[in-house]
Amino acid sequence: MICHFIDNNFVPAVYGQTFETLNPATNRPITDVAAGSTEDIDRAVSAARRAFDNGPWPRMTAAERAKFLHRIGELIEGRADEIAEVEIADTGIPASQIKKGAIPRAAENFHFFADMALEIGGENFSAVGSFQNYTVRRPAGVAGLITPWNTPFMLETWKVAPCLAGGDTCVLKPAEWSPLSADVLAQIVQAADLPAGVFNIVHGFGETAGAPLVAHPDVQLISFTGETSTGQEIIRNGAATLKRFSMELGGKSPTIVFNDADLERALDGAIWQVYSLNGERCTAGSRLLVQADILTDFTGRLADRVRRIKVGEPADPMTEVGPLIHPDHWRRVHDYMDVARGEGAIVEVGGDRPSAFPEGNYFGPTLITGVTNDMRVAQEEIFGPVLVVIPFEDEAEAIRIANDVHFGLAAYVWTGEPERGRRVAEAIESGLVWINSHNIRDLRTPFGGSKMSGIGREGGRYSFDFYTETSTIHVASGDHQIPRLGTGGMD
Ligand code: NAD
Repeated sequence: MICHFIDNNFVPAVYGQTFETLNPATNRPITDVAAGSTEDIDRAVSAARRAFDNGPWPRMTAAERAKFLHRIGELIEGRADEIAEVEIADTGIPASQIKKGAIPRAAENFHFFADMALEIGGENFSAVGSFQNYTVRRPAGVAGLITPWNTPFMLETWKVAPCLAGGDTCVLKPAEWSPLSADVLAQIVQAADLPAGVFNIVHGFGETAGAPLVAHPDVQLISFTGETSTGQEIIRNGAATLKRFSMELGGKSPTIVFNDADLERALDGAIWQVYSLNGERCTAGSRLLVQADILTDFTGRLADRVRRIKVGEPADPMTEVGPLIHPDHWRRVHDYMDVARGEGAIVEVGGDRPSAFPEGNYFGPTLITGVTNDMRVAQEEIFGPVLVVIPFEDEAEAIRIANDVHFGLAAYVWTGEPERGRRVAEAIESGLVWINSHNIRDLRTPFGGSKMSGIGREGGRYSFDFYTETSTIHVASGDHQIPRLGTGGMD
């Protein structure tokens, strides 16, 4: 059974409740997991609070904390195959994408933020009159970290690493559909000998374990990654205790292909960007905008390739698309096929369970054409291997369609004209834009969404803006005038 991790100990739920986590390839249970409630959250937050108020962690130098974080990174590297196996079985993401992508990135998150913390300092404001002013950054407190089920290990470490590097303590609430790899992280933290209470995990459901973490008065920060509607609920629930929020939410990101682009590379990028990670990717380029004069040719080549994407068991190294995370999610993705047809679009490839996979949550890579941007399949996040194609005439129309959506997380622009690339990229209302590339990240750069895709930025020093508190110190060095009340007159 998978337990909570509180004060460096693995413990069952206070009331002993459990839930099952399923293997998406079969929907058979893998194991039982402790189901957290308010009482479990109270225990974990108390441990994190004690570690923050009285423990050594926030009082260490960044260099001292960095040694622990590098150790965690190395332990992840040492157990990479095992973590990958756990993650593949729990999420259905293809082995090649987990092994080459998500797990090395998780280790890198620890190494990167350990080093980055050494560079983070305050600012000096040179003397104004007789004052020298400067800022210091302090650890901010206890952080609640709430994460989704897509690439869970990578996303958890993306929050845990800067949080700990900044000197905070935390309670992680992993997603209930993919809790297993977080347990390995707890084992690694225990092996790395972090002080008790610095890192805690409470497993369980959003309403019963996530909500009390958000509402807890001893938690100062909530970093959340998940659906926009959940983010809205969390902000409402955290209002009474005035939490600081970082919100990484949903997306419906455009891939824009101009007729002057290197079309072979654009094709590779467009396909990777929506069908990798089973399409369960926040930055998926799930709306493909193609210039009208190349629409027929480009869509034809695209359809050909999508038909040939290899669906298979997630552990098979040749698999390109595996099963979706959960039967409920499979139904949600499947329901969108009726929505598409109902609105007059054409499900040209895929759209259902491939016949070779009668069990599990397999969903064939899907291409939908005849789409206009006002359709629900163009406006709502489907979060599966589903691409909709929308034609545009010129640059102005491409920008208008790209922006005509309430999300603003990522965008991908393919063009042979660098100046146009820059113009379009800068006109798109989106936190992240790539020109002539799929999603390649530089961890120093800010990551996050605009509009309904999020609030705030994480990554590089931006993570430390969230996970630390800034104090401004004003130092008087001379005898500046102080107004003297109670002396018989203002002078
Ligand atoms: P979700 O919102 O359903 O759940 C995310 C987490 O929130 C889970 O741990 C869940 O238990 C918890 N939760 C649910 N209700 C809660 C509540 N009331 N209070 C506190 N916690 C609660 O999201 P999901 O389905 O797990 O993940 C998919 C979504 O995540 C997609 O919308 C995707 O775009 C988004 N996402 C965004 C990014 C990004 O960086 N912007 C990255 C990955 C995923």
